[in-house]
Amino acid sequence: MRKSGTKPSSFTARVVFWRALGFTLDMKCIILLGSPGSGRSTLGRILAKRWDLPLISTGDLLRTSAERIGPVARAIRQTIDSGNLVSDEMVNHLMIGQLGSPDCADGFVLDGFPRTATQARFLDGYLRKAGAGEPLVLELKVSPEVATERLKSRLQCVACGRVYNSKLWPSGHPGYCDDDGMPLVQRTDDREDSIMTSLRRYAETAEPVVEHYKNKYYHELDATLAPGSLLEIVEGILEPKQAARLAVA
Ligand SMILES: [Zn+2]
Repeated sequence: MRKSGTKPSSFTARVVFWRALGFTLDMKCIILLGSPGSGRSTLGRILAKRWDLPLISTGDLLRTSAERIGPVARAIRQTIDSGNLVSDEMVNHLMIGQLGSPDCADGFVLDGFPRTATQARFLDGYLRKAGAGEPLVLELKVSPEVATERLKSRLQCVACGRVYNSKLWPSGHPGYCDDDGMPLVQRTDDREDSIMTSLRRYAETAEPVVEHYKNKYYHELDATLAPGSLLEIVEGILEPKQAARLAVA
């Protein structure tokens, strides 16, 4: 696999060129599964930074798309406002737009996608067409009790969307984002009644997705571990040779 670090600016352009010629690429596609409160977004950010990959969060993608003008944005807004899940068709449509962008040419980290077996099959088809190998699927396992406790203290930056936890990983200045100094707020879906609904909904929809990937490149992670320990585990999975060398040294 290609090592991370600073990549030449022409790299993406070269990848696009290779792809146009039908070459098979060693794309790093990481899928994160885990209930709300499992720390999925936090780990997503860490992995994206570590391997210099774009992080694509379905939640953020839907929120940004809903703010636009036009029939698609209006349909998404209405679905979100009514508390329903956005259809597979709509989510897949939005995803295609993201995954097809040049910065995704050497891989990506997916947070919140695929959420259903239909979306997983759609992604399989996309990756096959892109000439990519099997995605690495990481499922963060956490009990509903721990997840609820975490969600109650979760805060998100109004500007960049970075997620904090006032108890577990607070920002340097309480109430403000470390990256841009903007205020942190509690999301409406993090209030107690919404938490119960979203955990129940996740349990129902996640099972077929986990089944879809279970016999593939799939790993379970203990979500109660610190983000740093989780990163070490993922490094061991993605770069086993390098990890073994470090262990010997
Ligand atoms: Zn921020």
